[in-house]
Formats: sequence, structure tokens, C-alpha cells
Amino acid sequence: MSQFAEVIIDLVSNAVDRPFHYRIPPELQEKIRPGMRVSVPLGHSSYQGYVLRLLENTAIDSLRDINAIVDPGPLLTREQLALAHWLSMHFYCRKIDALHAMIPASFRKGKRPGDIRVIEPTSEADGADLNRAPAQRQALGLLQQKGALPRSELIRLGVTNQVLRSLENKGLVRSVSYRPQYSEERTADQVPPLLTKPHHLREEQAYCFEKVRTALDRPHPLRMLLHGITASGKTEIYLQSIAYCLEKGQTAMIMVPEISLTPQMIDHFEGRFPGRVAVLHSRLSVAEKNRQWQMILSGKARVVLGARSAVFAPLDGIGLIIIDEEHETTYKQEDTPRYHARDVAWWRVRYNRAVLLLGSATPSLESYYRALEGDTVLLNMKERVTPTQLPPVTVVDMRKELKEKHRLIFSRLLLEELNKVIERDEQALLFINRRGFAGFVLCRECGFVLRCPSCDVSMTLHLDRQLMCCHYCAYESAVPLTCPGCRGTKIRYFSAGTQRVEEEVKKLYPGVPLIRMDRDTTASRHAHSQYYRQFLEHKANILIGTQMIAKGFDFPDVTLVGVVAADTTLNLPDFRAPERTFQLLTQVAGRTARGPLGGKVIVQTYHPTHHSIVTAADHDYLTFFEAELENRRQLAYPPFSDLIRFLFSGPEEEAVFEAADWFTNLLGPAVGGADILGPAPASLYRIKEQYRVQTIIKGRALSRLAPGIRKVIGEYHRRKASHPVRLAVDFNPQVVL
Ligand code: ADP
Ligand code: ZN
Repeated sequence: MSQFAEVIIDLVSNAVDRPFHYRIPPELQEKIRPGMRVSVPLGHSSYQGYVLRLLENTAIDSLRDINAIVDPGPLLTREQLALAHWLSMHFYCRKIDALHAMIPASFRKGKRPGDIRVIEPTSEADGADLNRAPAQRQALGLLQQKGALPRSELIRLGVTNQVLRSLENKGLVRSVSYRPQYSEERTADQVPPLLTKPHHLREEQAYCFEKVRTALDRPHPLRMLLHGITASGKTEIYLQSIAYCLEKGQTAMIMVPEISLTPQMIDHFEGRFPGRVAVLHSRLSVAEKNRQWQMILSGKARVVLGARSAVFAPLDGIGLIIIDEEHETTYKQEDTPRYHARDVAWWRVRYNRAVLLLGSATPSLESYYRALEGDTVLLNMKERVTPTQLPPVTVVDMRKELKEKHRLIFSRLLLEELNKVIERDEQALLFINRRGFAGFVLCRECGFVLRCPSCDVSMTLHLDRQLMCCHYCAYESAVPLTCPGCRGTKIRYFSAGTQRVEEEVKKLYPGVPLIRMDRDTTASRHAHSQYYRQFLEHKANILIGTQMIAKGFDFPDVTLVGVVAADTTLNLPDFRAPERTFQLLTQVAGRTARGPLGGKVIVQTYHPTHHSIVTAADHDYLTFFEAELENRRQLAYPPFSDLIRFLFSGPEEEAVFEAADWFTNLLGPAVGGADILGPAPASLYRIKEQYRVQTIIKGRALSRLAPGIRKVIGEYHRRKASHPVRLAVDFNPQVVL
């Protein structure tokens, strides 16, 4: 009988970031299990905590007792506990941060999972006469339609507390504790999805599917990469592989980028596996998330479809994890815990001896390199299911436009094609990547961009100090007034935003309906799908947008895609800028030529010979891969190394630098032969009154240094406990700005 328990305190603090031992009082000994939430004393208060392990004995004496068990059963599976441990080690987060990633926030607020307070109509409600209380009538109507809703949800829908109280006093509604029942019923406003039948696989598909099936039959973990051009039928392979998994009594998980998780996508999966799919994403209401989570915990859901954080779902007996669009940066979480879903998925696949299937039309360099190294099985699909052609891509040299005295942001070719689109009442997408705001300096005559000689990332303009700075290694140089490349004088800060493009279009085509989609215009919850529908219904001819419009959109009438300035992506101060550019251009190009009208793509750039642009125009992944891999090899960037970024931020510039220096000095001995870059100002140097300074280490297989690095981090937190400078550690960051 275990008499002791190891507990992680539910307190986000570096001071308690270690397991605490407690005695299990006799009355709890039969009941307590790992993964349970308990209440324990600490100092003068009591806190909640999670039981990691039960222990037969402990070297520590005079232990305190566990107070109580909070829930009837464990909140965490054994697999999740092991995963949390690995997560905190591998991605440098606190143990409690790792545990929190495994449990929806709503479960953590002291409530039992599944028990929600909801308001429901009583039997009196039907005959109620509320003609003189329209607000109450409306609220009641809402409840009658939905059955029951949490109070918070009602408030969100505009029902006031006062109205609810009046209804309660009249006995028309009551508040009940509700443990959701997971019936197949959908709520009134949802139409059950149509059942979809498996397609008969094409030859390429059948070959790939066969490989996946064989892998699923073997009891060894395996990673596979499905490299298939858009519309080659990858989704069908996912669906049939999942079906095979379920037949064998296993479960499966499929991850997609948040933006791709549209209702159509969900219906697609529910239509194939009715009643067995749990869907997890960030827009779910609290009640809905609990419901989905319970469905997984209870074993009813056999398939989990979700965005990044779904990778932690308590799914048991996993046979297959699929990551669609595996190259997407959204699989990396940018907040604590800063994990990559692909790495977490691979951990779970090894734990379960399952199969990891990565899919993409433009695989990440890391994944494709692994496949070439033999670490991953490579599957190829080169043909589209429908006999549509990939669209022709024309690259326009903007330097030449300028030379020929054409100064608009649209080239003559793009204007010509836009005219045609408008004449024929077809549709066009104009794409502009606004993340280029980080401020690089470009020569409009020759395309020259100042880059760091040792890091090969574009240097960032720091206006306040009138300096160009490499934010990897802190190398500085003067702001060039004449171009070091061509001696020209048209070298300046480069910017072009969606708003600017919109203004130009309005000037050129007054009266032509257009829609602009970016973070500003789609801030409200439904704006995104509203604009989407409007454009689909042909209510506008031109859609202007950021990467938001690059993904997943399927408009048959789009016959022209214009990339207004490929340079903003190409010159992001990030070593992955060429890779992002290739992926983005490929994706944007995929938005046209989807219907019988065909389509073309025009890419405007000051760097028309750059390999990212040339190969994207040719739809040639392999050539791009080889060129880019060579660049990475020369500068020892991933996949030839790992990076760890230490980001310091705080309101006082001096203090931030001081902390970064202090830490970086300490780091030296801990990292062996790895390179230390910085401290240097981050490319986004000041955000919300916070100064940001970073140190990056670069070296082979940095995981092996983790224990030493963690010691330095611990030391920093101890010495700088009251310090206002925050430290964020990011293992293999996807975006370094
Ligand atoms: P991808 O995920 O590779 O971009 P999809 O899986 O979305 O491609 O496939 C594109 C379209 O082709 C979808 O409408 C899909 O239903 C259809 N499809 C896929 N496989 C087949 C097949 N074997 N026969 C007929 N249609 C198919
Ligand atoms: Zn540098």
C-alpha cells in the first residue's frame, strides 16, 4: 500500500516548480490514484495540486497530510502525466504549465468536469404569458429553443441578470447542475452532416494508403510524410487510414491548422464517422469544450479532430496521429508552454507505438530532410484528383517598372489583368503580407536589402537610434543613404499594407465592389465567415487580404491572384523567410484555377531571381528544397542545428539588457561548443511599453544540454526573483521577431 504521494501544486510560480511529498491519510489510501486532483496544505494555506505518483516510502520525514480528493476520478491519464513531464523538460516550462496544457481551463476553476450550472426552462414555461415583458419572452424563447444554457452564455447573448432573476422568480426557469449526456442528438440549429462514402482510390492514393495500412499493422512507432500537391486527395487517405484504425479497435487524431477547421471540414469527418468524432478548437464555448473533452474521456469519441492544443487530448489507445499542413507555423505555440504539436505528436506516437502521418504540399525543411535521411517514410502524390492544371505564375520585376517610369504599386501587367477580370465580372485576390512591418530597407532600383554578414537575415531599421541592427547577433551598421549595391538613391524603408492597396484599388476602379480582410477588419467573431460568404456569392470582384486569405479558401470564380509585394515575406528578419515565401506563394497560387474558368497568378517583386520565387513560380518543391537546404547547411541553421531563444522583456531598457548580459554570461559554460548569439535587440524591439532583448544559442542536438540550461534558468529565477525582467525560453522557435 502506498503511503505517500508526489504532488505538483497548482500555482504558476517558479518557487514551487517541483514535486512536493505528502502523506496519504488512511481513509484516502484506497481511493487515491495518479492524475487525481487533491487539496494539500502548503505554508499557512491550502492549495490544489495534482498527484504525479504514489510512493511506498520517502526520505523526507515529518510530512503533512493530503487534505482531500477534489474529483471522483483522475483528471489526467497516465500517458498525459508522462507527457507533461517530458514537455516541461523539453520545452523549458514549469511542471504546472505542462499539466495545465493537458486540462481545459474550465476544468481547473475548482468545478468538477462535466458539472456545469445551466439555466433551463421549467414545465411552467410553455404556457407563460410574457407579452408585457419582451426581454423576458425573448430570453425564454432562446432557452426553449436551445434546451439549456450556462448563465455566462446567456449573458454573452445579451440577456441581463435582472431578466434571468425575474424569470426565476416567476418559476419559469431554474438553475440546475448539469452533467452533460452525450447523446447523438445535435442541437436544433445544426443539421446532421450527410454521410459520406469512401472514394475509390486512384492509383497514387492506393499506393500511399497501402503503405500507411502496413505501418498501422506493425507494432513499431513510425513517422511518415505524405508530400502531395494541393487537391491530390490527401484528405481521402486520412479518412481511410482513420477508418482502418477504428476497425482495429484503435483511436485516431487528426490535427489541422485552426483556420482550416471550418464547418465543412468538420462535417466531412463527422459524415464519415458519425457520433464518434470530438472536435477541439479555440472558438468553442466553455460548455462545448467540456462536452467534447468528456466525450473523449468517456471513450465515446474515437476520433479527435482539432487544432494545435488538441494534441493533448486524453485519447486512449492511439493508433494514428495525422498532422495536415504540417509545415504551418501555427503548430508552434507562442506562449508558455512553447511546444510544437509535431514534436508532441511524435512523443505520443512513440508512447503508443503508433503511426505519425504528416501531410503537406510544401513540407517543412525539417520534415523533408528527415525523410531523405531515412528517419521518415516519404510518400508522394504528384497528380491532382480532378484534371485541373496548376495555374501559370508570372513574376514581375518591379525594378524594371520603376526604370520605365511606372511608379504605381501595381505593375502594368497586373493592371492589365485586373482590367480583364473586371470587364468579365470575374474575381481577383490581391495578397499582401503585412508582417513586413518589422522594417527593412530596400533599394527600389536594384532590389538590394541590407543583410547581416554572419547571420544572413535582413537587418532591422531602428528609427530611434538611426541604426541598422541584426537582431540575431547584435551586429550594427549605419542606415544606408545610397545603395551599397548600385549606388542609387532610391533606398528606403519598405512598407505596403492592405489599407494602402485598398486605397489604390478604389482610386483605379471607382465603384467596383471590393472586400478587405486583415486582422483589423475581421476582429469580430463572425466577420471572417461573413466576408467569406459575400465573396463566394460574388458580391465583390476584388478581395484584398493578408495570409488570412491564402489558406483553405475555395472560390471557383477567382481567375487572378496578385501578390502585390513578395518582398515583405522574403525580407522578414528570420532565417526561415525564404521557406515562408515559398510556402505562401504556393498556397496563394492554389487559390485560383480551381474552376472551369482557369486562372493565373502574378507575383510582384524586387528580387525576381530569388530561388524561393523562381521555384514557387515553377511549382517545383524539390529544387527549392535543395537550394534552401544548402543555405541552411552553410549557416548551420535547422535542420542542421537546434536553436534556443531566450527572450528578456521589461519596461526598463537598461535593466533588460543587464539581465540579458548576466544570463548570457552564466550560459556560456553550460552550452559546450554551441554558438551563443547576442544579447541583441529583438526585431520587434518594443511592444506595449516592453523592451525586448534576446540571446540565441545554436548547435547540434541541443536537447542534450537541457539539464545544464535548466540549471542556469533556475539560477536566474532565484537571483532575479523580484526582477521585473521576464524571461521566456523557446526551444526551436518558428518565428524569431
Ligand atoms: P488535398 O487534401 O490533397 O488538397 P483533397 O483530399 O481535398 O485534396 O481532395 C480534393 C477533392 O478530390 C476532394 O473534393 C475529394 O473529395 C476528391 N477526391 C479525393 N480522392 C478522390 C478519389 N479517389 N476519387 C474521386 N474524388 C476524390
Ligand atoms: Zn547577425
